[in-house]
Amino acid sequence: MNTGTGRRVVVIGAGITGLTTAHRLMVDRPGLEVTVLEAAPVAGGRLVTTPFAGLPVDEGADSFLTRVPWAADLCAELGLSDELVSPSARSASLWLDEQLRPIPTGSVLGLPLDPATVQPGLLPATDLERLTGPGIPDQPLPAGTGPAGDLSIGEVIRSCAGPGVLERLVDPLLGGVNAGMADEMSCALMAPQFLRAARSDEGLLATLRLAAAGADPTAPVFNTHPAGMAHLVATLVERLGERIRTNQRVLTISAVGDTWQIGLDSGTEMADAVVVTTPAPAAATLVEAVCPVAATTLRGVRHASVSLAAVAYRRSDLEVPADQSGFLVPRGSDMLMTACSFAGSKWSHLDDGEHTILRVSAGRIDDDRSSHMDDDTLVSTLRRDLSTTLGVEADPTAVRVTRWPDSLAQFPVGHRREMAEMLLALSHDAPGLFVTGSAHNGVGIPTCVRSGNDAAAAVSELLG
Ligand SMILES: Cc1cc2nc3c(=O)[nH]c(=O)nc-3n(C[C@H](O)[C@H](O)[C@H](O)COP(=O)(O)OP(=O)(O)OC[C@H]3O[C@@H](n4cnc5c(N)ncnc54)[C@H](O)[C@@H]3O)c2cc1C
Repeated sequence: MNTGTGRRVVVIGAGITGLTTAHRLMVDRPGLEVTVLEAAPVAGGRLVTTPFAGLPVDEGADSFLTRVPWAADLCAELGLSDELVSPSARSASLWLDEQLRPIPTGSVLGLPLDPATVQPGLLPATDLERLTGPGIPDQPLPAGTGPAGDLSIGEVIRSCAGPGVLERLVDPLLGGVNAGMADEMSCALMAPQFLRAARSDEGLLATLRLAAAGADPTAPVFNTHPAGMAHLVATLVERLGERIRTNQRVLTISAVGDTWQIGLDSGTEMADAVVVTTPAPAAATLVEAVCPVAATTLRGVRHASVSLAAVAYRRSDLEVPADQSGFLVPRGSDMLMTACSFAGSKWSHLDDGEHTILRVSAGRIDDDRSSHMDDDTLVSTLRRDLSTTLGVEADPTAVRVTRWPDSLAQFPVGHRREMAEMLLALSHDAPGLFVTGSAHNGVGIPTCVRSGNDAAAAVSELLG
């Protein structure tokens, strides 16, 4: 094995993407000197767990998808697999028509595959009728953008399943992933299985039904660690040791011959390769001087701002169904709240028997009202929404507000192609400088882990 002895790699940002990149390089290329420079006082980025009402309640991401392998594989490599837990409650609802209505069981990203699971009145009769068929589009789907023939999720679902399915089910479910709008989301990136199935001769629904028939319906969809997602961060931090340096904001990157100079408040660092894993706006600033084309593309990525309030009630004041993980609020309601997770029903380690703990979200790409509210107004507005939806009027025993400004990247149609072109420009103008992170392939933790693995592989290839 070529270990890359004597060469130095600097990873900028110690979120899950940067930590994975550094971990992969440390394990696969032990001869490389790896340094992670993180602006914040602690590593983790959007993975933050702090005690709330005496329990480890996440302030950002609280779990990861297990239907794709990358995060689960990383946990296995770190020896965490046996400690991971899956949700105790698997059903969720939508706030529709002034009531909580169950999301049809067996839906794929909100798309019901079996009309019998759709509660009466949930969908218009024409849409319900269509769900009994194969899901062939009304008109042949347009050619779309790029080699994947990308279309928006809205276009695909409207043509193959109907507008009611889109607006009342798929848009709220997918909007929950990145606070985006299905009509503006790249289907190739956010739901490639929909695009492939919609373009098949058999039709969207028939193809997805066939795929679902082979899947185990009891297999867990999400995993977390009972100490919170920060435990994954802590495990990586422990392995990486002194390679991680916090309170180190990178200000500039410039080329010096074949190497890179990284400018910090405290001085400069040199590297043979640099991997930028910061959010896209920060990455744009860092690469501006060496690749203006890449900077323009990165600066153009839109982000939604979200606010997340953890709210604890005495169990005697609020009880929520033990078999429900929470509910989503579709756009178009007059509420601020976009989602409410029943933390103690979802995760048994967050059920102390005495409190009901909720995680209540606000903010979408087309609704930044919460960003302009102070904490008191935000909390009182969310409490009004909780009173409407759950009927709770009592004072909470604890409240914690976390702000995530410009935190969730949006992926319009053609995003993949734009990113590929940006990376091509970067490799031409700035060989040895890599940019990755949640604005590239998707915001989910597994995708960020995969991006970190890929960045490490690209560095390994460069350094031979
Ligand atoms: C409220 C919320 C809930 C979420 N829930 C889930 C969920 O349940 N499941 C899921 O899979 N995903 C979820 N996500 C998405 C997921 O958490 C993120 O996409 C992922 O953690 C991003 O990781 P990252 O390493 O790419 O970026 P980040 O976590 O943003 O890390 C980037 C790091 O770069 C640092 N940095 C920035 N500028 C500089 C600089 N100039 N110099 C040095 N360092 C710098 C930052 O301080 C930060 O630590 C959620 C996101 C949010 C906001």
